[in-house]
Amino acid sequence: MTPADLEFDQRHIWHPYTSMTHPLPCYPVESAQGVELQLADGRQLIDGMSSWWAAIHGYNHPVLNQAAIEQIGKMSHVMFGGITHPSAVALSRRLVEMTPTGLECVFLADSGSVAVEVALKMAMQYWQARGEKRQTLLTLRNGYHGDTFGAMSVCDPQNSMHSLYQGYLPQHLFADAPQSRFGEAWNEQDIAPFAALLEQHQASIAAVILEPVVQGAGGMRIYHPTYLKRVRELCDHYGVLLIADEIATGFGRTGKLFACDHAGISPDIMCLGKALTGGYMTLSATLTTRHVAEVISDGEAGCFMHGPTFMGNPLACAVANASLSLLAENNWQEQVAGIERQLQNELTPLAAHSAVADVRVLGAIGVVEMREPVNMAELQKHFVNQGVWIRPFGKLIYLMPPYVISPAQLSQLTGAIASALESLY
Ligand code: PMP
Repeated sequence: MTPADLEFDQRHIWHPYTSMTHPLPCYPVESAQGVELQLADGRQLIDGMSSWWAAIHGYNHPVLNQAAIEQIGKMSHVMFGGITHPSAVALSRRLVEMTPTGLECVFLADSGSVAVEVALKMAMQYWQARGEKRQTLLTLRNGYHGDTFGAMSVCDPQNSMHSLYQGYLPQHLFADAPQSRFGEAWNEQDIAPFAALLEQHQASIAAVILEPVVQGAGGMRIYHPTYLKRVRELCDHYGVLLIADEIATGFGRTGKLFACDHAGISPDIMCLGKALTGGYMTLSATLTTRHVAEVISDGEAGCFMHGPTFMGNPLACAVANASLSLLAENNWQEQVAGIERQLQNELTPLAAHSAVADVRVLGAIGVVEMREPVNMAELQKHFVNQGVWIRPFGKLIYLMPPYVISPAQLSQLTGAIASALESLY
């Protein structure tokens, strides 16, 4: 990339959550291989982010490349209305088999946020079909579910975009975030605020939506699985649907195939995305039970009212199939358990630093929470100079590397965080 390309980028291209007048620097990446990103100036960076939870097998993987090439040779895309194809059928069969019991009907859409919209619409249509006016959602503070309007309306009201869109976003109910931490004692009082809201508003609540066990972009909080178990029990008790947003946590990241597995529960609706295609391209899936699907289908509309242009995109489905095969063959449990042990050994000592508020680890997720928000540009530069790609936000410096990372590469990531604490704080 030439300096003119970078200048054009700054002047004309939006990046995620970035100002067009005061943009933070962007690093030009020319290619990526395994767990390394290659910068235009030739430097290699070890990837600590998996491109936001997605690239679990690393980059430029021969098996995923081959799956894409084979599918391109047949067709990259074909409309899904009135047409089906082998890649969508194979992928959906796998998803039904591997997800918690009862999830049988698969909606394939474009992105995580759309998967959440689909889940919310399913819940709304379900109650409409049953002749009940239920349009309120109950969710948790510190949650994050995406950037589209329905998804935004259930993101944490303080640390997200609620105030910006006030008056336009639907009003929902927010229970205090769980306090009992994963791996520590469960405090039964923890569920009380949630239980109270559910009891009070039971007749108007269509669904509960939450991120099971790990709240991601809303604070990287890791909570006790018993909380999730209690939520399931309470939803059953009051007859409310439970939507599990596993877009970030799905496919082994937390040490179980799905975070719901930590609590042994099945939701009524589950959203998947991110790592579904091994980070190759955008695809999401919203799964639901036969019961929910049948009630919606037998309702007034006679069908579920959603059908995107790129629904079931064959190219994305083919790569997702190959990615799920790799996941099974690579013995992800051992990979993730190894990363977890090493993150625990190498990040936990950083909790002693005066600028660090907390360190927490679950599966292939390691979080160093600072006492104050970090200077992102400065920290990012430090990391790049250390040969690693780590992108902090707010007070959080966190790692979620590809599962195929070697112990030496992972040590470089944790070492770069330790050196940042030493030299910048
Ligand atoms: N839900 C969760 C839990 C997420 O982490 C994200 C993405 N950060 C989304 C939904 C939205 O997914 P996407 O960015 O693909 O729209």
